[in-house]
Amino acid sequence: MKCSHVKRKLSAYLDGELSIAEKKEIESHLQQCRGCQEELTAFSSVTDALSILEGMEPPPYFTTRVRQGIRDEARSIPFLERIRSIAISIATATAVVVSLLIGNQFGRTLYQSVAATAVSEAAEAPDVFGLGTLEEFPDGSLSDIYNELVAGGNSG
Ligand SMILES: [Zn+2]
Repeated sequence: MKCSHVKRKLSAYLDGELSIAEKKEIESHLQQCRGCQEELTAFSSVTDALSILEGMEPPPYFTTRVRQGIRDEARSIPFLERIRSIAISIATATAVVVSLLIGNQFGRTLYQSVAATAVSEAAEAPDVFGLGTLEEFPDGSLSDIYNELVAGGNSG
């Protein structure tokens, strides 16, 4: 007898549905074949578990309580949705605050660098516009007054 044939008959064997001849054939195979013995053990433990379940009576109002549980579950979903939307709102607010802080810092840095550039450009302005040549005009002349005004009145 082949293992595949024995394994196919194990359910009927456990249920006592086999003829005496078939039963003896399977038992003689099981005594020699470890694989089929393990299959029988696994099969019988499943059958035992099923028979235990079959013998169990459901507790009173079992289906009513299951339905009530499903209804409660369905009612709790909007609550979870609310929690999720609150979490999204908090995350969005946090992102806005963080981006404002980063933007503020970036803006301050940008302003400082622009201001520094403007100051350095202002200091170089007389040379840029060729006004440095006016420094050699005599004191009190119109060009000397203009030169003092451009330099900020600190030269005199
Ligand atoms: Zn076998």
